[in-house]
Amino acid sequence: MAVSDIVVIGAGIAGSGAAFRLASLGAKVTVVERAFPASGPTGRSSAITHAFYMMPELSQLAIRGCELLAQMPELTGHPRCITQVGMMWVMNAKAKPAWEAAVERIRTEGARIETLSPAEFHKRARHFAMDDIAMAVWEADYGYADPHGATAALIDGAKARGARVLNNSVAKQIHLVGGKVAGVETEAGEQIACDRVVSAVGVWSKRFLGNHGIDLPVHIERHPMAVIDAPGEALKIMPFSWCDDAMLHYARPDGDSRILVGTWAGGGTGVRHGELERPRFVAEPEHYDEVVDLDESAEILRHAVPRVPALERLGVRKGYAGLYDMSPDDNPIIDQAPGIEGLYLVCGSSGHGFKLGPAVGEAVADWAMGNKPKLLDAFSLQRFAKA
Ligand SMILES: Cc1cc2nc3c(=O)[nH]c(=O)nc-3n(C[C@H](O)[C@H](O)[C@H](O)COP(=O)(O)OP(=O)(O)OC[C@H]3O[C@@H](n4cnc5c(N)ncnc54)[C@H](O)[C@@H]3O)c2cc1C
Repeated sequence: MAVSDIVVIGAGIAGSGAAFRLASLGAKVTVVERAFPASGPTGRSSAITHAFYMMPELSQLAIRGCELLAQMPELTGHPRCITQVGMMWVMNAKAKPAWEAAVERIRTEGARIETLSPAEFHKRARHFAMDDIAMAVWEADYGYADPHGATAALIDGAKARGARVLNNSVAKQIHLVGGKVAGVETEAGEQIACDRVVSAVGVWSKRFLGNHGIDLPVHIERHPMAVIDAPGEALKIMPFSWCDDAMLHYARPDGDSRILVGTWAGGGTGVRHGELERPRFVAEPEHYDEVVDLDESAEILRHAVPRVPALERLGVRKGYAGLYDMSPDDNPIIDQAPGIEGLYLVCGSSGHGFKLGPAVGEAVADWAMGNKPKLLDAFSLQRFAKA
């Protein structure tokens, strides 16, 4: 039987972040991953990075998460995994006061973030329609990341610090003795003795932890992305990562050849646009429609073309869909499992957990090592307890 201090189940961005931190702190870590790192929703992520959030605990995690992503080359020797094209937001007059207040706060938390008047925005994006824009928010240091590269860097960094990583290995059972974690058993029959487990299995959380008597208030939603062909002009047409709070879409360049476009319900930034049709619920993470056809792409582009008319003349490729691990308030759950000593839960990333992931992993790792960061109080499972 193998022996570990801590087993991390799941090598998405959060589990990989946790493994990296635990190994850096000198813990004996085993990572159990059902396929390979970033094989789940992390690998499908648009991986847009930004610090903007209405909730201070989220902006602080985002700032730290993006800082870690930027440091990957120095920390791990991996190539750079971020592209700093900047992040631009626009919003209407109704939303402006709340966004202005949040920008002021986030600046004091250490991010470079500024508001732009409609005229200043127009100078940077002359071919964008200005309808309904009361203000823009610009985050020069952000943009997007390579989700596979970032996850590989964290996992390889963890390995270089002594972690054992089992790919193609499904965690079947967390064994308990007297209400405390005692080990993990894989489907292949490997037993790993440990006294702590970090469960970071994303959209698999409800089923996996349900098998251990934990009823999580999470569900799975399908999130479709349209892919626009723009060889040699993607950066001219979409020069930054982009989120339109008025016309409910987001986008980013993918190098200089493609533009990715999705609809934006708001979610974790603290805004939820109820008028946007909810994506389809998914029962089992293994069974959902991964392809986005031309009709579905056209529905997505209906939100974006009025703002960026240049998109209309470009070709549309086959799109793709990924899965969101949704909590009731669109924010992550990071907590100890009720009634099980030594089991730490990370789930409910709700469609915005990529840029948070390295910092969420770091924070839960610190907690598992006996040093709970205060900001994790905001992400307790208890907040959903029925009154
Ligand atoms: C299309 C799309 C676009 C997105 N865009 C953005 C964005 O622009 N910015 C942003 O911040 N976020 C974005 N997100 C959200 C973000 O990608 C996710 O919140 C984040 O990647 C979730 O990471 P995770 O590590 O929690 O989980 P996952 O990526 O789901 O990883 C869980 C891992 O656990 C493994 N696993 C499951 N069960 C077991 C088991 N029993 N044993 C062993 N291993 C197991 C899986 O194989 C998987 O690798 C997007 C998501 C999608 C789908």
